[in-house]
Amino acid sequence: MTLSTIPRYDSEEVETVGEHAVVIGASVAGMVTARVLADAFERVTVIERDPLPDGPTPRRGVPQGHHVHLLLEAGRTTLADLFPNFGRELLGSGGVLVDASTDLIHYENGGTLAEGPERLPLYCASRPLFEGVVRSRLASVDGVSIRDECQFSDYRLDESRMAVNGLTVRAEGGAAELITAELVVDATGRTSNTPRWLDRRGFESPPVTEIDIDVTYSTVAIERPTDDLRTWLVAPSPTDPRGGAAVPIERDRWLVTLFGVHGERPPTDEAGFLAYADSLALPDLHRLLERRRWVSDGIAHHPFPSNRRHRYEALERVPHGLIVTGDAIASFNPIYGQGMSVAALEALQLHHTLARADGFALADPGGHSLPLEFYDRAGNVVDDVWDLTVGSDFAFPQTEGNNPRGTDLFNRYVSRLVQAAQTDGTLRNEYYRVVRLENPPTSLLRPSVVRRVLFACRSGRASRPN
Ligand SMILES: Cc1cc2nc3c(=O)[nH]c(=O)nc-3n(C[C@H](O)[C@H](O)[C@H](O)COP(=O)(O)OP(=O)(O)OC[C@H]3O[C@@H](n4cnc5c(N)ncnc54)[C@H](O)[C@@H]3O)c2cc1C
Repeated sequence: MTLSTIPRYDSEEVETVGEHAVVIGASVAGMVTARVLADAFERVTVIERDPLPDGPTPRRGVPQGHHVHLLLEAGRTTLADLFPNFGRELLGSGGVLVDASTDLIHYENGGTLAEGPERLPLYCASRPLFEGVVRSRLASVDGVSIRDECQFSDYRLDESRMAVNGLTVRAEGGAAELITAELVVDATGRTSNTPRWLDRRGFESPPVTEIDIDVTYSTVAIERPTDDLRTWLVAPSPTDPRGGAAVPIERDRWLVTLFGVHGERPPTDEAGFLAYADSLALPDLHRLLERRRWVSDGIAHHPFPSNRRHRYEALERVPHGLIVTGDAIASFNPIYGQGMSVAALEALQLHHTLARADGFALADPGGHSLPLEFYDRAGNVVDDVWDLTVGSDFAFPQTEGNNPRGTDLFNRYVSRLVQAAQTDGTLRNEYYRVVRLENPPTSLLRPSVVRRVLFACRSGRASRPN
């Protein structure tokens, strides 16, 4: 499911179901989850092992924070629903609003996409700024408290051994502390320990699917004239596994990220970084790097080995009082920029789960299972994104594993569509509405879209093989 197929957030729909919920991890998934839980619990505590900075600086627990982060439309809309005026605050803190139809120079599949006919807003900021604005909004929600420098160590099971009713944490330099809660949420990202914990405690652990993509990111920040909103994306392709992006961010900077898949590694020394930029299909990023002053300390680097999905929705028996969300459920090849938006859509699904809480007994083994219902709904979000992302990764011949059904045919069609979008701006916007997680991938198969692609094929504008 994508933004257009999930009902929007409505706080009026949720009644109080419990006294205290705890969320582990104050990154994007943890914070959006805490926001929806605040409608259903009198108190929500978010615990985070890092010290949380006052300003927009990267932190140890979110090492990807040095690199380009795009907030797709599904994330933008959901954050604006959860935190009214989110966009205005982001812009007030230095974020930048660009039009993805015209300001974004998008090179893919042998050419640059034509400008689109409708405005598509895209908020640009560093990842720490996105996170900082969400955190300051969350901190002002009634009943929410955020405890940093506080490390989660274990869940606590009740006497029935069927429900989690709290957790132990350790504050920096302090002793172990027990916190009771009717609901605990694991939002600790890819390093989540919950599958191992479930296994150790005699529950099933979720089946895992892992598809290697071996992506590497290297990033610098450079100076930008205030009114220059140009944004670039050079997408890697099976014939050229190198790519990059330049995104305008706060403090009059562009963040320039170079990436490569299946073993292509952008270097972290200046000369190597420039040479890599020069090897891209579009010369713009290299030109930008040569002409503008570099302002970051060194070149940040991040390897990302694989798409990974834990199928919690496949489980039949899970403990009451515990759910998992965000990257801890599924994390995707970051080139498609989906993680924060998927976390936001999962929070929206949790909101709808809580809205249905007629007679939910949070810790009653005989009652509805809030975790199972949430996992079903979250699984519907992950299904579409997984098929889109992993499906696209299967366009690279090096990608191994079980590809989603129909992938090859769909990839061939999308490849034609992208070529047609190089001269047809309407197709660009249709494509964007899917990759921005607004519309489901099937929307690209509507007759009006297929006709435009076929027309381009017949007129010879979209006939090159991928
Ligand atoms: C290189 C790269 C680029 C990306 N680009 C994009 C992009 O363009 N757009 C996009 O939407 N997404 C992008 N993503 C994905 C995005 O960063 C994540 O999906 C997003 O941060 C949501 O993750 P999360 O909150 O589930 O987990 P994380 O961001 O990993 O956060 C987990 C949190 O849990 C805390 N924690 C962990 N263990 C404990 C513990 N024991 N006790 C207390 N706290 C703990 C950590 O300190 C951290 O704060 C990118 C990812 C990578 C790697």
